[in-house]
Amino acid sequence: MPMAALIIACADGRIADPVSRLLESLEITDADRMFVPGGPLVLTRPGMERRVAMHCIADMVDVHAARRIILVSHQDCSFYERALGGLGFDQQELLERDLRRVKMLIENDFPEIAVSCYVIPWRENGAGGAAFGEAEPVD
Ligand SMILES: [Zn+2]
Repeated sequence: MPMAALIIACADGRIADPVSRLLESLEITDADRMFVPGGPLVLTRPGMERRVAMHCIADMVDVHAARRIILVSHQDCSFYERALGGLGFDQQELLERDLRRVKMLIENDFPEIAVSCYVIPWRENGAGGAAFGEAEPVD
C-alpha cells in the first residue's frame, strides 16, 4: 500500500496539469489536496492565516495518516505577486526560500512526516509564447 500523502499547492488552475504530472511521476495516486492561493505562501504568514493552515494540515494528516507532504510553488504566481506587491527578478530565490521555511515549520510540528518541495517554472516555449514547465525539486 502506498504511503498516504498530502499535497499543498497554489489554487491557480493553470498549474493543474504540471501538478498532476508531478504526482504521477512520484507514483502518488490518491494524495489529499490543499489548494489555496499561493500554496505554501499561506504558511509563511504569521498569525491567523498560518494557524488555520496548520490546523487543516493537522486534520488531514490525522484523518488519512499521511506520512508525506509535497509542497508546490510556481513562478508567475498572481497571489504571491499580490501578497508581496510584486515578484521582481528573484522570484525563484524567493519561492525556494519560502519553501525551505515552510518545510522546517511543518517538520517541526510533524517530525514523523517527510516534506519535499517543488517549483513549477514559467518558461518561454520557443514559439514566442510561455508556458509552465515540469515541476522541479528544491533541496
Ligand atoms: Zn499561484
